[in-house]
Amino acid sequence: MILGGTSEATQLSKLIALAKIKATLSFAGRVERTKPQPIPKRVGGFGGAEGLRDYLINNNITHVIDATHPFAEQISWNTFKACSELRIPFVALTRPPWLEEPGDNWKYVDSVKQAADTLKNHAPTTVFLAIGRIQVSEFEIAQQHKYILRLVDPYEGILPLKITHTIISRGPFEIDDDIRLMIDNKVNIIICKNSGGAGAVSKLLAGRRLKLPVIMVNRPKLPKRKTFHTAAEIMDWLEH
Ligand code: NAP
Repeated sequence: MILGGTSEATQLSKLIALAKIKATLSFAGRVERTKPQPIPKRVGGFGGAEGLRDYLINNNITHVIDATHPFAEQISWNTFKACSELRIPFVALTRPPWLEEPGDNWKYVDSVKQAADTLKNHAPTTVFLAIGRIQVSEFEIAQQHKYILRLVDPYEGILPLKITHTIISRGPFEIDDDIRLMIDNKVNIIICKNSGGAGAVSKLLAGRRLKLPVIMVNRPKLPKRKTFHTAAEIMDWLEH
């Protein structure tokens, strides 16, 4: 079973399908439409580590690949717990984090809440807020700013922020488009999670070009497990 919700999981699914390995791709069900996948999928939570354990037993799962997003903390700990208890071989497929380069102006924080705190007493400015939709409400404490939000699906209900411009797009994004977006919207600060990967790096490349400061949310602490960065390495692991 592949735990997904990322482009890495989709890439791996393609290789798994080509290799004719019987597999299932699991989604939490956070986005309204998942892309068509090359292997069967299931959608929805398992009911904690216990539920996941039961699922693994009932479906005769022999190998688990945690290819969830590096900020998906809970499911990674649940996978670690369930697979360790059942002694099912499991590994993680994850993207390396983005790294600061000379000339960049990145400030690191440990949570989205801390990122919002840094803006609380800041003079009104325009912020490119790329943290997904779940934690947008953390920025309620800094309503003096204009927020440019880029979301996969429209925000459900009324946005808790007063001044916003929302862009609905799944990506991947291009650097030239993001430079234009930052200039057109007069963006002064970028706030994002250190997700890593190629699909969403364009905002940072655009920010680098425009010399914009970045508030970077560090990754959460995940369980120590064997981790690979490419789908090909996972195929190798499965073969051996
Ligand atoms: P999370 O906090 O780690 O997980 C919360 C709960 O959602 C889990 O306990 C589990 O429910 C369920 N869940 C999460 N991933 C699942 C999966 N692949 N298959 C089945 N159930 C899953 O996760 P999250 O941060 O909300 O992220 C949810 C999904 O979105 C993940 O699959 C992740 O790969 C993807 N994603 C997350 C982010 C992000 O920034 N967090 C960004 C892009 C994509 P039960 O306890 O009921 O099993």
